[in-house]
Amino acid sequence: MNRDSGAGQHIELDPASGLVRARMHLGDFELTVCTDGTYKLDGGVMFGVVPKPLWERRAAADDQNRILLGLNTVVVRTGKQTVLIETGVGNKQPAKMREIQCNQELLPQSLAAAGIRQEEVDVVINTHLHFDHCGWNTTLHGDGSVTPTFQNARYFAHRGEVEHGRLQLDRDRVSYLAPNYEPLIESGQITLLDTEGIEADPAICPGISVELFPGHTAQLMAVHIESKSAGGVVQHACYISDLIPTSAHLDPTWVWGMTSIRWSALRSASGSTAARFRRTGWFCLRTIMSGLWLASD
Ligand SMILES: [Zn+2]
Repeated sequence: MNRDSGAGQHIELDPASGLVRARMHLGDFELTVCTDGTYKLDGGVMFGVVPKPLWERRAAADDQNRILLGLNTVVVRTGKQTVLIETGVGNKQPAKMREIQCNQELLPQSLAAAGIRQEEVDVVINTHLHFDHCGWNTTLHGDGSVTPTFQNARYFAHRGEVEHGRLQLDRDRVSYLAPNYEPLIESGQITLLDTEGIEADPAICPGISVELFPGHTAQLMAVHIESKSAGGVVQHACYISDLIPTSAHLDPTWVWGMTSIRWSALRSASGSTAARFRRTGWFCLRTIMSGLWLASD
């Protein structure tokens, strides 16, 4: 185990296995960063209008212009509940997409390596319903059936994401795969949120709330995690999802290409709400390969 120099003394990384990316305590909560492995996406998509000579200094591209990204899942153990934020790409990608993206389908092994049993997960939160955030919501079996991966969990996603996904628009239908969420809607296992601001804690579980940051999608949600330490100090962390997808996008003007509402994304990334969580706690990036948790200051 070693310390991640960019993230402060609470953070421990386990480079030996690569399956458990980091672990930290936040108040009374234990936070573990698990992973669905890595995948590759087009560098141009990742960096939008930023010229390649600039972004290539931060992320090396391969001979097909793809850059390597990680797929972080944050597990919060509150002492009473086990909460999963994001479920990676999963195992339902069509063969052609797997070939292009080289995803690894590691989340079940990662959870096992972290000592987290699938049946003990109480809550699953999808910040939005793109394929790389909700893939392991369900599992594809050898007989072609698809079942919920976390059979005892209540899932949460935004209703607007489902409504948008069902439109299957030319521009983004490749990202919205119905088997990742429709079976959960049919079974009643998913709660669709209508939040336009910060959703009150009881809606999900004490200490966990979500907040809307439009831009990447119209209903992208960040997840706030708050817990009181033994000394009574409230500590705060935030999983900011695709609002700022990697450490290379920390400059708010580096808006990435997968942004349906560019100016909203800029406002979200640089506005007072984003600045607030930068000031008040730790935040976690979804695809960063190192430095998983960044201190606010
Ligand atoms: Zn996304």
